[in-house]
Formats: sequence, structure tokens, C-alpha cells
Amino acid sequence: METSKSFKYRCYTCGYECSLSKSFHCPHCGDPMALRALGTIPEAAMKTVPGSLWHYAALLPVEEERNVVSLGEGATPLVDAARLAEKWGMDSLQIKNETVNPTGSFKDRQLSVSISHAKETGRDTVAVVSSGNVAVATAAYAARAGMKAVLFMHGQAGAGKIAQAAAYGAQVICVDSPRPSEVFTLCIQACDRFGWAHLSTSGMHNPYSVEGAKTIAYELYQQYAGHLPDWIVAPVGGGGLLGGIWRGLLDLQRMGYIEKLPRLAGIQAAGCAPLKQALEQDWSFQESLKHPWENPETVAGGIADDILFDGHTVLPAIRETNGIVLAVDDDAIRKGVQTLAHAEGLFCELTTAVVIAAMEKNAERFRNQNVACILTGHGLKDLAGKPIKDSVAPPHIPPELEALERLLGV
Ligand SMILES: [Zn+2]
Repeated sequence: METSKSFKYRCYTCGYECSLSKSFHCPHCGDPMALRALGTIPEAAMKTVPGSLWHYAALLPVEEERNVVSLGEGATPLVDAARLAEKWGMDSLQIKNETVNPTGSFKDRQLSVSISHAKETGRDTVAVVSSGNVAVATAAYAARAGMKAVLFMHGQAGAGKIAQAAAYGAQVICVDSPRPSEVFTLCIQACDRFGWAHLSTSGMHNPYSVEGAKTIAYELYQQYAGHLPDWIVAPVGGGGLLGGIWRGLLDLQRMGYIEKLPRLAGIQAAGCAPLKQALEQDWSFQESLKHPWENPETVAGGIADDILFDGHTVLPAIRETNGIVLAVDDDAIRKGVQTLAHAEGLFCELTTAVVIAAMEKNAERFRNQNVACILTGHGLKDLAGKPIKDSVAPPHIPPELEALERLLGV
């Protein structure tokens, strides 16, 4: 692992850059800045199969290997979804299966990097706001690091995820508010008061907390043998995933591995679609913050963010790649879980199923295209919730062949 890495803060809105010793708010336009790595991954390493996302340590903001907190996150499979590609008339559809990460979601990438950074800077307690997956990942990686974790769960959190987070021994606190931005205010006040590191995956609060997502772009480059697809499709809540993938693609371009970036498609729930709204209104990031989504309401609780916590990267990610944002309703999202599971044998959570629903509803847009979609979270996380329980409730019969024949209609 390299130790001589360097980073800058970069404003992805106006292009201003400065050293990490400065504030991460841009002095020109006022937007938050994100990290930009200056290091390189040599070509030989780009041809070696990664064992975890720390394969790309030269581009990650942790100086010393002994501070790395890892559970083997990243290095996830790319699964050929040929049946769905044929159904929707795509040239190809590949699914980046992030559900096999240690706690079942891509958030492990974010927390492995941000907890390693927190450890390197001498912190012993971390806190996050979450609908579930961030809390679970924080709890697991804090346990791994021997640190304490305080988890503020907001009103969109599912019962299964709350139980999973608590299993790692973290302090779980449910805050009665459906609006994540209100719970953020409480978490930030608590971090100031008690000296905790705030690691919510919100780049506008902490640029280190969203850094891990960019490694998905590096892995895709390797798995596609350098020939990236026409589209990368991903769910969007706060925007840190797609904004991170975009920054990873820019790294690949800077290192000379790719010339052109794929187009990015961000998928939101119709019941909470602040990115779609911001693009339709042609808002800047700061204008978007003045118009939070009033009443987030969707079964896709993991992306029910009322504001764009990473609007400063996801807005340029969509605009500069000639991308699109689509929104899908709850019925389509529920159906999306089954469409994917039945056709390809992959079981995803409702939050993730927005990508399946969007491709199903907008097949014409992706026709004759090569598409990669990011499957962010495992279906096992939703089993305690009603939408999945209802859809898979099996019939009951006595242990008699006649009863089975009646059931099967033979
Ligand atoms: Zn700026």
C-alpha cells in the first residue's frame, strides 16, 4: 500500500481547488467541496483482480495501512443479466452486485473509508443519521475498529435494518421525524457537544464520508476490461453514490484509462424526488437546499432524503454526462423486486428496486444500449417489512397428496 498520497479539495461546481488545510467550502461559489485524489493506480494493478476496495488505496484518503478498518468490502461481482436485457431490448445489462458487501449494502465502502480516516485522526466515537444501511455499516465498522457508534435513525428506517444495526452493539436512537434534514441538525449538535466524528454519508457535511463510492467506478473499469458501458444506472437519495461514481470516472479519465465517460442515470422514488425537481427547475445546489421535498413518502425508505446531501457532486454528474433522472412509483418499485428476483435470481431491497422499475418503465430509452446498474442493498434487509411479507405469503395445506393436488389444480 502506498503511503505518499496527496489530495486536494475540489469544487465540482466552479472548478476551484485548494489544499486540505483550508475549509472545504468554496470561497468563490460557497458550495461544499469534495476530495480529489492526485495519485495513480499503475496499469499492472488495474489488471489485477482486487481483493477489496483497498486495492485502490493510493486513491483513498488514509495514510497508514495500520489505520485501515476493513471487512473485505468492495470487489463485488458484475453479473450478466441477459434475460432482462433481452426482455427490454438492451444490447447488454450487467448488474454490479453490491448486496454481497459485508453488511449487505454498498454503504460498507463509504464506512470502511470514513471510519479508517476517523481512526487515523484519533477519534473514538462516531455518529450518523440513517434510514438503515448507513447505520448498519457504521455499527459493523465501528465494532471492527473498537470504536463506539451512536446511530440516529430517522422516520424512514425499516424494522429489519434497526434490528441489524443494534446487533453490532451500537447505541441506536430512533428520532421521530420523517425528514432526514431535521435529524441531521440534531446529530450535528450532538457531535459538536460530545466531540463525536460525524460520518453520515453526506458530502456537504463531511467530504470523507462519501469517498468510498468512487471505487465502484474503478472496479467497473476493470470488470468491463476497459470498455465501459453506455449507461450507469443507480438509485439516488442524497446523491453520494452517483456523485462518487462520477468522481471515480473522472479519476479514470485523469489517469488516462478512459477518454469518454458513460452517461449517468439517477433513479428516484416518485414520492421523494428532489434531484429530478432540481434539474427540471434548473436549480443550483444552493437553490435546491431552499426547496426540501415537503413530505417524503415511499416504500424506498433508503432514498427518501428530503434534500440533496451530495447535490454539489450529483448535479454536475448528471449535467456533465448528458445524464437523466427518472422517478418511479411505489407499485413499480414493489414489482421491481420480483422482476429481478424471478428473472435473474438476485434479491434486492425496495430502495434498490427503483433501478429495475425505471428500466422496465423506460425500456425505449435504453434500447440497443449497453447498461450497468448498481444493485445497492440486499432484499434480506426488508424481510421484516409488510410490502415484501405480503408479496411472498405462501399458501398452507395439510400433509396430504389430495390437498396438494387441489392446490395445484390437477
Ligand atoms: Zn465553487
